[in-house]
Amino acid sequence: MLEKVVIANRGEIALRILRTCRELGIKTVAVHSVADRDLLHVRLADESVCIGPPAPAESYLNIPAVISAAEVTDAVAIHPGYGFLSENADFAERVEQSGFIFIGPRPETIRLMGDKVSAIAAMKQAGIPCVPGSDGPLSDDSEANLRTARDVGYPVIIKAAGGGGGRGMRVVYTEAALLNAISLTHTEAFNAFGNGTLYLEKYLENPRHVEVQMLADEHGNALYLGDRDCSMQRRHQKVIEEAPAPGIPLEQRKRIGETCVAACQEIGYRGAGTFEFLYLGGQFYFIEMNTRLQVEHPVTEMVTGIDIVKAQFLIADGERLPYQQEDVLLRGHAVECRINAEDPETFVPCPGTVSVFHPPGGPGIRVESHLYSGYPVPPYYDSLVAKFIAYGETRHAALARMRTALSETVIEGIKTNIPLHENLLRDAAFLEGGTDIHYLEQKLGR
Ligand code: ADP
Repeated sequence: MLEKVVIANRGEIALRILRTCRELGIKTVAVHSVADRDLLHVRLADESVCIGPPAPAESYLNIPAVISAAEVTDAVAIHPGYGFLSENADFAERVEQSGFIFIGPRPETIRLMGDKVSAIAAMKQAGIPCVPGSDGPLSDDSEANLRTARDVGYPVIIKAAGGGGGRGMRVVYTEAALLNAISLTHTEAFNAFGNGTLYLEKYLENPRHVEVQMLADEHGNALYLGDRDCSMQRRHQKVIEEAPAPGIPLEQRKRIGETCVAACQEIGYRGAGTFEFLYLGGQFYFIEMNTRLQVEHPVTEMVTGIDIVKAQFLIADGERLPYQQEDVLLRGHAVECRINAEDPETFVPCPGTVSVFHPPGGPGIRVESHLYSGYPVPPYYDSLVAKFIAYGETRHAALARMRTALSETVIEGIKTNIPLHENLLRDAAFLEGGTDIHYLEQKLGR
């Protein structure tokens, strides 16, 4: 097994990765910013290296600093977690060129899937159902673009090939607005991502977000670990996720899983990854692939019993996946609530010192959090401070456990969105299952 690993991340996911390292007997190096000395995983790691000032660009996104930390500590591999450098192909390449193992896909796979135009082309080739659209980048030819949009049919969505995090997109309802929208999105995309390439898709008006979790080793074995529904979103940020996605027929679930397996084999995928789809009218439409561990991976772990982070380490170590598709059995239902340090009404981030933290517990409750009483939540990073995961034999049972968990949690000193979750866990449409991606914003009236 890998001897020593650098955890190039922070917060709950760094702790999650550290715990699996300890279980596997892997030594850990926590790299952190000046603002993150108090992080729980920094205290628990075998070694820690301060890699720079609080600003992410100077610390968690500082490629030379992260790689030097691996060099000075004699680590053999780097786990990027999610966010930060996790989907940066140049980083993965530099890690490998410096003689370390990158815990993730090959750099060329990250590059292929990181450009949405090339990703869609590759997925089409592999038989993955995609949203009807421009079949490649938009051109400089206005007439051609007008024709493309007319063929696809309004409304359409203009998207940046290099986009991410819900940015670089614009919905267009009428032909009169198309050319201006293309020009605006092009400028925005160029400024934000250094890449002005755009493409166009049919805008699906009220789909669900359903995604498929994959594991693949470098020996050509690939598996799907079932699906997740992440439709409960605000500003493209997921708020609640669950596995399996409610109400999808077994046969269809199997078919999309098998298609994703074939696609992984086709592109020589390695590691954990997720195919994200919009699901509308009983059909899947691919939107993008995340070539990394996801925030919501625990719900899949709960229903499959498979430790996805452990699998990432085995794969990175060159081992074969220790199970076949028929060993992947889904059992019960799991729900995850993302607990953010933010005002539950205005959603403004709310950093500060946590005076009291009393996490929930009991059967079927899992808490992924770096909080402790006295921990100062810094203002520089994402506001996610905890994930509560509830497992039950049925969806109904999992939701009941989540309600209990939320009601017994005490977090004092900072505001959190727990009241929002309590509200959603009593919402009739959510309890029914299958609400679409606009449901939460509509409910909030914005
Ligand atoms: P990002 O990489 O920025 O997250 P995605 O391609 O995953 O971009 O899209 C983000 C979100 O934008 C989706 O979850 C969905 O809400 C919306 N979206 C993207 N493409 C479409 C589409 N063709 N129709 C409707 N909504 C879309």
